[in-house]
Amino acid sequence: MEEITTAVTEAAEEPVSKHFIELAIEKDLAEGVYDHVTTRFPPEPNGYLHIGHAKSIILNSTMAEQYHGTFNLRFDDTNPTKEKIEFVESIKEDVAWLGADWEDRLYFASSYFEEMYEKALLLIRKGKAYVCDLTADEIREYRGTLTEPGKESPYRNRSVEENLALFEAMKNGECEDGSRVLRAKIDMASPNINMRDPIIYRVAHMTHHNTGDAWCIYPMYDFAHPIEDAIEHVTHSLCTLEFEDHRPLYDWVVRECEYENPPRQIEFAKLYLKNVVTGKRYIKRLVEDGIVDGWDDPRLVSISGLRRRGYTPEAIRMFVKLSGISKAQSTSEMPMLEYCIREDLKMKVKRQMAILDPVKLVIDNYPEGQIEWLDAPNNMENEALGSRQIPFGRELYIEREDFMEEPPKKYFRLFPGNEVRLMNAYFVRCTGFEKDEEGKISVIHCTYDPETKSGSGFTGRKVKGTIHWVAADTAKKVTVRLYENIIDEEKGMFAEDGTLNLNPNSLVTLTECYVEPELGEAQPGDRFQFVRNGFFCVDTKDSRPGEPVFNRIVSLKSSFRLPK
Ligand code: ATP
Ligand code: MG
Repeated sequence: MEEITTAVTEAAEEPVSKHFIELAIEKDLAEGVYDHVTTRFPPEPNGYLHIGHAKSIILNSTMAEQYHGTFNLRFDDTNPTKEKIEFVESIKEDVAWLGADWEDRLYFASSYFEEMYEKALLLIRKGKAYVCDLTADEIREYRGTLTEPGKESPYRNRSVEENLALFEAMKNGECEDGSRVLRAKIDMASPNINMRDPIIYRVAHMTHHNTGDAWCIYPMYDFAHPIEDAIEHVTHSLCTLEFEDHRPLYDWVVRECEYENPPRQIEFAKLYLKNVVTGKRYIKRLVEDGIVDGWDDPRLVSISGLRRRGYTPEAIRMFVKLSGISKAQSTSEMPMLEYCIREDLKMKVKRQMAILDPVKLVIDNYPEGQIEWLDAPNNMENEALGSRQIPFGRELYIEREDFMEEPPKKYFRLFPGNEVRLMNAYFVRCTGFEKDEEGKISVIHCTYDPETKSGSGFTGRKVKGTIHWVAADTAKKVTVRLYENIIDEEKGMFAEDGTLNLNPNSLVTLTECYVEPELGEAQPGDRFQFVRNGFFCVDTKDSRPGEPVFNRIVSLKSSFRLPK
């Protein structure tokens, strides 16, 4: 196993130059700006995590690891409307599964509400914050535009005493939702709209999943987030590009709140996947509209969906690495993610035989009722996986596409008169076939040559085609699910009315597939390569003991090539 993993990681760990975040961290350490590195992943518990979040999780945790620092998992639960405990649990599971270890550093932003409140009081006392009674619409109007400066609120120059009293009233539940806010007093003429007296606290009579009814004022993201980072002594607050314009406010908050050694925000480009639904909003809609089977539907790129489909943390890490860390926005492609899972699994899992679209093959000169156990290597490229015994008999199933009545040129599989190798078994020559009333091939007949047994050293003659098979009497009948993108790639993501263009073939369920008997005992989460058909994983939700359901992770064909 050891060898295998190195082979896979090596591909992803060829020496590459350092990315800009590594350079920034190294500079800070060299200049003594920080004497340690602490990073965090700060999800809002309002949905399940997806492949984009994986980038942030892997980036944050590897930076901590690489610079012998610490990594925190912190729930950004300052917004009680949308947050749910269900999401907290799923996020913890996903982050741990990806291999990011927060050890005992699991935090909730809501446990800092008291300190945030104290900092708000400090700002008021310093004349840096004021209570404003403008309505939400008025605040928007006064804010100005990119080309016009904002207008100062008539409440901007309230005295410190008045502000303290009003803020106290807000906190004590004496103000209605939306009637008043606390605003930072910065600069209404700033070219950066985020600096035009942003709201830092609002009144909201809502029950919070952590603090219950203790608070009826809640801090806004731009005020809360830097404080959360500062409290945890985060050094490098890594976030996505849309927060670049918020950085001056981030710096203002930690400075005016008088934190020593404040964190530094660094932005990087989000991970996008072409023609793949990633945004929480859209995934949520697919779930709520019943288009998918929950957040962990194997067609989704939610972490739980990828896990259920059969992706490994190693493959996702490799994908994030290949996608790169940069400030330039770019789009990755699904074939690259598929390449990563193939690379990860190809040496790790057994290669077995499964027939997805069966047709009977009868070997007329093979003794009736006889079962022969043949030796089959588990993975030709990795001897360490050993071999297994598979039953062979007179009646087999083969793939329907492996026989043609009238073959085109260069078709080397079965057709009348042609001889092929049955993988790990014998040569067989097709002698005829039968059709049902509808004209569909129902049985193919052949004869075998006992001299040609696999492994016997037979060199008498060669055949051009090898096909896979399972013995009909002993095979296990199972359900196999094949997937395609949930989006219709030809039409693109969105229709004109803003809805998603869905692919009607994103899920195909095959209920009459035959697999080697031992696969009947496969356990949920087990992964295999099915010869010629792809990589498969036993579904963790719909499988029953002795009744595995196989999800196709990915087919074997690839159009993706790793750039040199
Ligand atoms: P979504 O965009 O799917 O709604 P979000 O940004 O609202 O996600 P949060 O819980 O706020 O989700 O995100 C947690 C962290 O994950 C943030 O630091 C955010 O910047 C990061 N993140 C979210 N999406 C991506 C992405 N596509 N690529 C990289 N990082 C991301
Ligand atoms: Mg968000």
